[in-house]
Amino acid sequence: MIPHSRPTIGDTDIKGVIDVLRSGCLAQGEQVSGLEKDMTSLIGVKSAAAVSSGTAALHLALLALEVGIGDEIIIPSFACSALLHAVRYVGAVPVLADIDEGHFNIATGDVKKRLTRKTKALIVPHMFGQAANMGELLSFGLPIIEDCAQSLGSRYQGKMTGGLGTVSVFSFYATKLITTGEGGMVTSENTSLIEKIKDLRDYDEKDDDRVRYNYKMTDIQAALGRSQLRQLDNFIEFRRNLARRYDRTLQDMRLDIPGIQEDRSHIYYRYVFRLAQSESFRRELAEQGISCRRPVYQPLHHYLGLGDYPVSETAWREAVSLPIYPSLSEREIRHILSACKSFILEG
Ligand SMILES: *Cc1c(COP(=O)(O)O)cnc(C)c1O
Repeated sequence: MIPHSRPTIGDTDIKGVIDVLRSGCLAQGEQVSGLEKDMTSLIGVKSAAAVSSGTAALHLALLALEVGIGDEIIIPSFACSALLHAVRYVGAVPVLADIDEGHFNIATGDVKKRLTRKTKALIVPHMFGQAANMGELLSFGLPIIEDCAQSLGSRYQGKMTGGLGTVSVFSFYATKLITTGEGGMVTSENTSLIEKIKDLRDYDEKDDDRVRYNYKMTDIQAALGRSQLRQLDNFIEFRRNLARRYDRTLQDMRLDIPGIQEDRSHIYYRYVFRLAQSESFRRELAEQGISCRRPVYQPLHHYLGLGDYPVSETAWREAVSLPIYPSLSEREIRHILSACKSFILEG
């Protein structure tokens, strides 16, 4: 079976981890601060805090913005359920917005309709590797948590995602653009916000009794992350080249390819296209040993029992995500391409 996702781990990654194991310093230390530094220079922001996951990053970002009980946080329905969980951790109210027809990102017009006096912030994921409409979203004048779990290295108007909002979060889960197994990062131009997050991620040796967490990253993870980060450009180039090949195949099948907006770049964390018969497509490719998934397991309005999210609903029914990651072999790629072509011939 060709999996839907698979990490890309090479000898230098392995050596980096072994070196840490041999050093005897395994927990948060100089590798973690090294990875934080690497991220600030990549994204072009003042400061960064490494944490144990993307979800922990979201939780701490909300706490640092002083989001609490009863505050409303706007999030898109068509997104990872981690957003919903993080909002609930702090006792805030998740307010779902629908997405744009074309690019699966949060719909500015729908956000506008859902703003109230209680709206405290927006969480804006850049879905599948292409930035959301940050310009319009920033014009609401509210704090924005950019969720860059799927957009590391992607640009909006020439600027890196992760440096556009008030604070940004990243995930280094096993299947993300780069991995530390589990892991995450928070970045911001606001140094005091990041200092607050660094305080909250570690419970030990404090002089007051404020609630704190153990959300630290280990040096084992950070060494892997630094080694992965050095390969990011190559990883993205691989993804873009494969996306061009998928584009050509879909165009031959007369299907719509994932669009790229003029003022931004796509790093193809996911290659997602729409197909009315998405279920039979996934089934047929599975029969040929290829795992294609729904790119979002459930839209969040399903969990909350809400209607009124027609674009998210259709995206959930029609979106297909093809395997796209640098550890795919040429043989596997050719097999995927020919399996796609055979679907249309029969279907
Ligand atoms: C993966 C992901 C997360 C959660 O990250 P974890 O490291 O798995 O906690 C949050 N938001 C988005 C958009 C993601 O893709």
